[in-house]
Amino acid sequence: MTGDFSEDDKIKCLLWCNRHCCLCGKACGTNIEIAHIIPKGKDESGDIDNAIPLCFDCHSEIGRYNEKHPKGNKYRPRELKARREQIYEEYTRHLVPPIWFDITQDLPNGQQRHLPDVGLNINHRGDSLPVKVSVGVQVFLGDKDLGIVKTSQYTDERLWNLNPRFGVRGHFSVPDEVVESNEHLELKVKVTVIDQYERKHQLLPLGWVHMRNRNSWYLEPCGNDT
Ligand SMILES: [Zn+2]
Repeated sequence: MTGDFSEDDKIKCLLWCNRHCCLCGKACGTNIEIAHIIPKGKDESGDIDNAIPLCFDCHSEIGRYNEKHPKGNKYRPRELKARREQIYEEYTRHLVPPIWFDITQDLPNGQQRHLPDVGLNINHRGDSLPVKVSVGVQVFLGDKDLGIVKTSQYTDERLWNLNPRFGVRGHFSVPDEVVESNEHLELKVKVTVIDQYERKHQLLPLGWVHMRNRNSWYLEPCGNDT
């Protein structure tokens, strides 16, 4: 039926909250339900993003608000999701190691890459627990958004394995028009870490601006957020 959560998604939700209610925070054991934030039957109501693990009391509480006779303040979907994320975060953050990443033209042998070829290094700086990461690089030239780099490795679907204390040296090509141009060139790098319970943790995007005369990049930490 439209709106049912899959067994697989239910298990993920229970792991991510460690069987704690996402509203009152209490440890529930088996007395927990996977509730719908937006009621069943609507489009996408069966998505994992619409699921919230709740104790029985809180489950009855979220549906109780009457629009016609408003008393108190109802839980709106955005608030429910934000509270759920807080609980998920509390019980999964130990699974996320420090991750370091960088855009560079330098090669380990002392040589340099040249545009359109660009290097991306990413390192797991923790001591335990492997993770998977996905990497997306978006190219901006002047005021033009040239989109996400079209290399199969640099998409949301492609997951890289990162073991503890392990690093990957990747590289990709920017569009050819970038090489000829003298306009401001900026790359925005988005890294998502996927923990052992398959929860996605999105790191904040960082920008790198190209210095053409030095074939090098500087970090732009407040890059635009498109
Ligand atoms: Zn509760």
